[in-house]
Amino acid sequence: MDLPERERMEYDVVIVGGGPAGLSAAIRLKEVAAEAGGDLSVVVVEKGSEVGAHILSGAVVDPVGIDRLFPDWRNDPTCPLKTEVKQDKFYVLGPAGALRLPNFAMPKLMNNHGNYIVSLGDLCRWLAGKAEALGVEIYPGFAATEVLYGETGEVIGIATGDMGVDREGKPKDSFTRGMELTGKYVIFAEGARGQLTKQLIARFSLDAGREPQKYGIGIKELWQIDPARHQPGLVQHSFGWPLDGSTGGGSFLYHLDGGLVSVGFVVHLNYQNPTLSPFDEFQRFKTHKLVRETFEGGKRLAYGARALTEGGWQSVPKLCFPGGVLVGCGAGFMNVPRIKGSHNAMLSGIMAAEAIAPAIAAGRVGDEITAYDQGWRASAIGRDLKMVRNAKPLWSKFGTWIGITLGGLDMWTNELFGFSFFGTISHGKPDSQSLKPLSEVKPIVYPRPDGVVSFDKLSSVFLSNTNHEEDQPCHLRLKDPSVPIRENLPKYGEPARLFCPAGVYEVVYSDEAKTRDPRFVINAQNCVHCKTCDIKDPAQNITWVAPEGGGGPNYPNM
Ligand SMILES: Cc1cc2nc3c(=O)[nH]c(=O)nc-3n(C[C@H](O)[C@H](O)[C@H](O)COP(=O)(O)OP(=O)(O)OC[C@H]3O[C@@H](n4cnc5c(N)ncnc54)[C@H](O)[C@@H]3O)c2cc1C
Ligand code: SF4
Repeated sequence: MDLPERERMEYDVVIVGGGPAGLSAAIRLKEVAAEAGGDLSVVVVEKGSEVGAHILSGAVVDPVGIDRLFPDWRNDPTCPLKTEVKQDKFYVLGPAGALRLPNFAMPKLMNNHGNYIVSLGDLCRWLAGKAEALGVEIYPGFAATEVLYGETGEVIGIATGDMGVDREGKPKDSFTRGMELTGKYVIFAEGARGQLTKQLIARFSLDAGREPQKYGIGIKELWQIDPARHQPGLVQHSFGWPLDGSTGGGSFLYHLDGGLVSVGFVVHLNYQNPTLSPFDEFQRFKTHKLVRETFEGGKRLAYGARALTEGGWQSVPKLCFPGGVLVGCGAGFMNVPRIKGSHNAMLSGIMAAEAIAPAIAAGRVGDEITAYDQGWRASAIGRDLKMVRNAKPLWSKFGTWIGITLGGLDMWTNELFGFSFFGTISHGKPDSQSLKPLSEVKPIVYPRPDGVVSFDKLSSVFLSNTNHEEDQPCHLRLKDPSVPIRENLPKYGEPARLFCPAGVYEVVYSDEAKTRDPRFVINAQNCVHCKTCDIKDPAQNITWVAPEGGGGPNYPNM
């Protein structure tokens, strides 16, 4: 079918993604250009209906990135960083009890004092306001769905998706052609498992010679709790129960201001048991006696989920290619033991901007920004990630108890002597290859939700305010539609039913006994854009692509 030509708009720099990395890059580009007495035209496209709508994080934020952008932010009453961490508690959970680890046993890098508890969505909204005040154009509700290449294969821009296309792929009355946004350089700041980032890594072999990227899924709720139980500034982490010793992950529980508590659970996506459900592990975690009383009598306000990168130092791909760079969690800058990535997301956006602005000033266009790629390992980001590089692989290889003990010792020796007994340990295989067949595992049976502190998936997804135009092509693409029932169901029980935190994937049968005519159903309208299916499907048969712009969750302050 002949589609009308796309309109083209030209900028100096195009940024994909309005998270902490993309917005910090936009702000710093404007600042650096102004310091040199000039200006740069900068545009940010964001697939959420507004900046922050797709942002989900803990979040305890290390303000090192904000310090770089706005050294005076502490005197800015509009800055949402208000709740300073006052208490830092770390627990090992068993089914019936909890053991608090003494703070002095924790490496200094794990200390949260000086950090702030905040909604990262709110922080991004604040950054977006600052960026717009500097003249950055921000277009929420527009997903970048295609990379545009120039004559020599260099990246020259992106195209946003067409709107008003029906489920068969035909234009509706409301059809609007996408736009082409071109730039001298494009910064990809899509966060963990970005759709275009994945394509670029493959096209330019950016991961050649690196360890595979590793991931976790983080599921989070926001609660308004009983004021008598609220302790603003309290940060609490745990590992252990309800996960078994061979499954990595743990919880976070942060008391914000205004009676709010952010609670969440991360499961490492190299788990082996296909009957594991990260959603149900989280619900079960909240029933632990250490945790339950915080939420009894409270009200659950919001729910959501998002993948996070866990490969760290070993897995960071090459960051530049002709015409573009990767920043933030798209580059894999998450520090797993600290459960922090927003500081590195901001620092990487800043670093990329500080390399791109002078390149443009020197008249360069569409080449490789090698200064950024060559600089990060010796920067604050590199120092942050190098010290913890063995924590995740030790956990994966030796299980929770021995792995965490060795990982702790390794962080101590790195911190004190800049040295590791282990060198740099490899991660091995990607997370899609870690599942064992059903025949080799003990099935996990989860308790029914109590409706007080634990809930089912559908009532949870309701609280994510997820909304997609229903008559549009399915944005969860199967390379081979027969694989879920032919391969995944007999071998693994079709684990997508369980690893998806939004109930998108179902296997339905034509009889009540669930034996006849199994069919794989995709409820794409429930998708909260966490990207777990793209990562964990054992057949690597599911590709997540952006739906029509503005679709997806509408997180108010996650
Ligand atoms: C459960 C959980 C808890 C966490 N806790 C903490 C914490 O306590 N402290 C901390 O510092 N970090 C924490 N992190 C990590 C932190 O959230 C990330 O490091 C950070 O958000 C990464 O920023 P980013 O800008 O790279 O990506 P993101 O924050 O993911 O932002 C990417 C943005 O790009 C948009 N986007 C993506 N693709 C496209 C596209 N193709 N077109 C248009 N827009 C697009 C997305 O909608 C999104 O708004 C946590 C993460 C999770 C999941
Ligand atoms: S369909 Fe995939 S991306 Fe969407 S919520 Fe489920 S696992 Fe996450």
